[in-house]
Amino acid sequence: MRIVCLAGGIGGARFLRGLRAAAPDAELTVVVNTGDDITMYGLRICPDLDTVMYTLGGGIDEVRGWGRQDETFHAREELQAYDVPTAWFGLGDRDLATHLVRRQMMDAGYPLSQVTEALCARWQPGARLLPMTDDRVETHVRVRTATGERVVHFQEWWVRHRAALPATAIVAVGAQDATPAPGVLEAVAAADLVLLPPSNPVVSIGTVLQVPGIADALAAKPVVGLSPIVGGAPVRGMADACLTAIGVETSAEAVGRHYGARSDGGLLDGWLVDTADAGVAVPGVEVRAVPLLMRDAETTTQMARDALRLAADLSGG
Ligand code: GDP
Ligand code: CA
Repeated sequence: MRIVCLAGGIGGARFLRGLRAAAPDAELTVVVNTGDDITMYGLRICPDLDTVMYTLGGGIDEVRGWGRQDETFHAREELQAYDVPTAWFGLGDRDLATHLVRRQMMDAGYPLSQVTEALCARWQPGARLLPMTDDRVETHVRVRTATGERVVHFQEWWVRHRAALPATAIVAVGAQDATPAPGVLEAVAAADLVLLPPSNPVVSIGTVLQVPGIADALAAKPVVGLSPIVGGAPVRGMADACLTAIGVETSAEAVGRHYGARSDGGLLDGWLVDTADAGVAVPGVEVRAVPLLMRDAETTTQMARDALRLAADLSGG
């Protein structure tokens, strides 16, 4: 079976680990959000690609959920000692090597998709990781401050301000002019099934879907999504702040309706919500309630099995 997943960072990566266990023989392609990417100190940092790569490759810090295990932050401490204004961004010493390799390859002319492939040769994630695009796309957020509105990079809003400044708009700058990375549309066209992991619906999945051609390609495929919202709140992180910014309520039902039913020109055939949200209805979509908390390997694998089961039931298989 061929499966394509769209993914952000932590929620996507953890689910993918379960999916790999649930469907070890499946050919898995992951189309990863690059709207979080940022250039710092001349380095191109791709948080979601790296989170997925490290998680599937066994190099992630399991507690933090991002960055390398056994990490130290000496370089960052030195940057702080220099009063560098961007030292709020957590760049680990081990992690730096990834960004240095990426910079070197990009300077040599390789597109991000090929850089990603090269990095994955080390990590062997057991899935093909593709950036959504090789073009530069950056999510920017219009925030309200005491002195008025201004626009900041998503990372500044998310990491520096912990999304505490109210956002009035979220824009994936460059997405409209971007082209899907080589292999993305081909992978979707060849897929038996597309899964939307419980990634952030706005700044992860939502950004991938803004790259022209990707949403249209999904329209030809069965799509099953999993809710990142459980009992009216994100399981982890501040997705509620993103949903509020685009006028969507923070609930499993509202996110399901936001993705929408295929029969209404939306995306979904099936929508998995947590048992805490049993009774949720999305018109035109088969909604099923199962445990959706990725507590450990077994519960995560079971979530993936439930997504595959729902897809099989929808196709009459
Ligand atoms: P990010 O790029 O690192 O923010 O990661 P993603 O966009 O891939 O995923 C973030 C989302 O994962 C958040 O909205 C969380 O609510 C969701 N999430 C994290 N852990 C879990 C979990 O155990 N279950 C569910 N259903 N969602 C989760
Ligand atoms: Ca992210």
